[in-house]
Amino acid sequence: MNRIYNFSAGPSMLPLEVLEQCAAEMTNYNGSGMSVMEMSHRSPVYDAIIKETEADFRKLMNIPDNYKVLFLQGGASTQFAAIPLNLMKSGKADYVVSGQFSGKAFKEAKKYGDAKCIATSEDKTFSYIPEITPDMVREDADYVHVCYNNTIFGTKYPEVPNVGDKVLVADMSSCITSEPVDVTKFGVIYAGAQKNMAPAGLTVVIIREDLMGNAREDIPTMLDYKTMADNDSMYNTPPCYAIYVAGLVYKWALKNGGLEAMKERNEKKAALLYDFLDNSKLFKPTAEKKYRSMMNVCFVTGDADLDKKFCKEASAAGFENLKGHRSVGGMRASIYNAMPAEGVEALVEFMKKFEAENL
Ligand SMILES: *Cc1c(COP(=O)(O)O)cnc(C)c1O
Repeated sequence: MNRIYNFSAGPSMLPLEVLEQCAAEMTNYNGSGMSVMEMSHRSPVYDAIIKETEADFRKLMNIPDNYKVLFLQGGASTQFAAIPLNLMKSGKADYVVSGQFSGKAFKEAKKYGDAKCIATSEDKTFSYIPEITPDMVREDADYVHVCYNNTIFGTKYPEVPNVGDKVLVADMSSCITSEPVDVTKFGVIYAGAQKNMAPAGLTVVIIREDLMGNAREDIPTMLDYKTMADNDSMYNTPPCYAIYVAGLVYKWALKNGGLEAMKERNEKKAALLYDFLDNSKLFKPTAEKKYRSMMNVCFVTGDADLDKKFCKEASAAGFENLKGHRSVGGMRASIYNAMPAEGVEALVEFMKKFEAENL
């Protein structure tokens, strides 16, 4: 059977080359006589894998030496609690609520201290990013939390928000490694890896060193960044295989020109789809133009039954997982790094045909 075009928001497509390498190495990794799945995380062969993965990730994202990279478990959702538990020194933090995940992060932070929502785009069903200025941030807030790309609503920050000298914390689960980012503008960047980097099970945290060591005393050991950093992400068993695959994906991205090249490819793919949507008489994009995501393209026909028909016929034609998030309906095409341009081109052709038949 041929592979389909998979537009899933996550877990999502991985580069075919990476999957083929995984398959080839599945039973015997590099002459070790075993699969990476079967290895002790304390073995020299695995130690080389995790070190190389980190080195490649640092190179890909241009991460400065004063930032730690942590390979954790629990998904981005666990970070919703880990962030306030580690960073709330004064007990205050400010949140921008620009979608469902940032709403969840805000709700979780309220359990641990005085979290305040300083801006939201809920008034227009999260179809835009609420802009913030430094004067909106409370003087004694320990950090400002944003979600950089809103996976469910298909919006993204057009530029790094200005929070003055405050620590900026960003959930980049659905856009990490899609384009270059200036890591030095952030105190913490975190991401569930299952959207753009690896299979599910791995969460990556990039944290400026001076922000560690301030955790609450009653923090669960597993959530304490300092513990994890002091133990090189090996306080307990890390998600070994997912880390290994992430490493292959980083090598694939580096080989294909790094994040500048990823950005160029992603911009082209997104433009193809948005241009079609902007000119379509049947389909309508839902995000405001200025804030459109390059990764998650959301659209509707305006008729729920027709949306359903579209998803059904798309699926039969080999375009899978185009249904929008269960909370918003409509359609969403997630076109992460691993989605080839041909996949988007083929989707647009299919949509043109569907439009001609259903207008
Ligand atoms: C998917 C996603 C999450 C949740 O990730 P889990 O790893 O499932 O906990 C959080 N934030 C964003 C932006 C996401 O896209």
